[in-house]
Amino acid sequence: MGLQDILSRITKAEQAAGRAPGSVQLIAVSKVQPLDRVEAVLAEGQKLFGENYVQEAASKWPAWRAEFAGVAVHMIGPLQTNKAKQAVELFEAIHTLDRPSLASKLANLAQARGACPDLFVQVNTGEEPQKAGVLPAALDAFVAEARGMDLPVQGLMCIPPEDEDPAPHFAMLAEMAARNGLSGLSMGMSSDFEAAIAAGATHVRVGSAIFGARDYSTRG
Ligand SMILES: *Cc1c(COP(=O)(O)O)cnc(C)c1O
Repeated sequence: MGLQDILSRITKAEQAAGRAPGSVQLIAVSKVQPLDRVEAVLAEGQKLFGENYVQEAASKWPAWRAEFAGVAVHMIGPLQTNKAKQAVELFEAIHTLDRPSLASKLANLAQARGACPDLFVQVNTGEEPQKAGVLPAALDAFVAEARGMDLPVQGLMCIPPEDEDPAPHFAMLAEMAARNGLSGLSMGMSSDFEAAIAAGATHVRVGSAIFGARDYSTRG
């Protein structure tokens, strides 16, 4: 547990998969974590973080960005269309583009600002009714639609079903990305990031294995 342990496990997994050192970026998922735990990881030199809630990110990151140079924050939680404007101002990347209405909203914002965060399309690889994400059968058309809006789609993201072997889901996401000419693969969490790296992940999203368990009861 802890940042250094996760970084060395990522290095070993890159090696084991025959991948270049540094080809996998660690997103330290800091949602809901006590501020002192996140500050300790910032002080250790980690620059890339993930957040799930726009409001929470807005309350924490402006001050830390002023204090720690070179920080980047990625949005990895579901994004409501009415929070899109705040999100494009807060995040370097959004991993949860999952519907045409959000794509249009982001395209309008990008035109007005002359800039857009990097985008990942979330795919519901397990076709779970309660889960966000484009269904696999609709993915190619959705990527084409987003590209038609000039959106900077860099890759795909998935969260495999909790009760299944994640490896086939990671392999499916990699295949869909390759087919669409996308190089980014946001997949793998605390329990399965090594399997994701073996399948080609470029971004792993690791929270509790770095910071410890999240305590949602303390959320305001
Ligand atoms: C919370 C979260 C993570 C991190 O989960 P851990 O199991 O704590 O590593 C990764 N990805 C997404 C989309 C999340 O919501």
